[in-house]
Amino acid sequence: MRMIRIGAHMPISYGFEKVPQMTIDSGGNTFQIFPHSPRTWRASLPAKRSCDEFQIQMEKYEIPFEAAFCHCGYLINLASPKDDIWQKSVQLLIIEGRICQALGIPYLNVHPGSHTGAGEKEGTDRIIRAVDEFLKIIPDVMLLLENVSPKGGNIGFTMKQLAKIIEPTIQPHRVGITYDTCHGFDAGYDITTKEGVEKLLDEMEGTFGLSRVKMIHLNDSKAPLGKALDRHENIGKGFIGDKGFRNFLSFPQIQMIPWVLETPNEEDLYTKEIAHVKSLVGLI
Ligand SMILES: [Zn+2]
Ligand SMILES: [Zn+2]
Repeated sequence: MRMIRIGAHMPISYGFEKVPQMTIDSGGNTFQIFPHSPRTWRASLPAKRSCDEFQIQMEKYEIPFEAAFCHCGYLINLASPKDDIWQKSVQLLIIEGRICQALGIPYLNVHPGSHTGAGEKEGTDRIIRAVDEFLKIIPDVMLLLENVSPKGGNIGFTMKQLAKIIEPTIQPHRVGITYDTCHGFDAGYDITTKEGVEKLLDEMEGTFGLSRVKMIHLNDSKAPLGKALDRHENIGKGFIGDKGFRNFLSFPQIQMIPWVLETPNEEDLYTKEIAHVKSLVGLI
């Protein structure tokens, strides 16, 4: 049987170097972290000692760097029609890229952004320019565009919109995809049925190509299909439900991509929920 990668969004409050051990202790073998406090514009490079120790711990706990992901800060809006916000966003994204480089993390997950009323075309063009800036300056980190909830001027809630960002960039092979199950459900992608998953996989293959998907954000949804509330729920407690996830996670194409939980569940560092997801696919 192939190795399934499952883990969660881990806190960095104990230091980057603690993340590999926390991941293994929670029953995981992959993780996502913020490269800095996500609600501020401030970000700085971690000390060399901390980066060295992080790499030692990754080896000790046998987590490959390919299974490590960073998620961008919340203030970044690469689609912003306001020049100052756009500039600040690109600058912060580049610093986040440098933090990824320092830690050896090969993937930086970003939300494409919101046009905040300026229109999809205008917003998409600004995202493409921002992605190009990043690709020019950070040569060894892949950007992952995350599908988002269709609200507030967000761009990138359909596979086609995501493909439209990737194609014109200067190095499309360095732009990947994260599929978030809650955001996808918000946008009407029904993964609770076999036909629904097949349709989604076909759409991915027909647009940016399935091999571009490097991470799955595993979140149940507090809102029904297509309602776009962007409210993550614990696996099994929302409208996707255990049955829906059992269906989605049974697809071999999905099992080849790391699964990362972002549900409201940090008290036990996701230990119970990781075990629950494993039980859905018969791993325990
Ligand atoms: Zn996200
Ligand atoms: Zn997500």
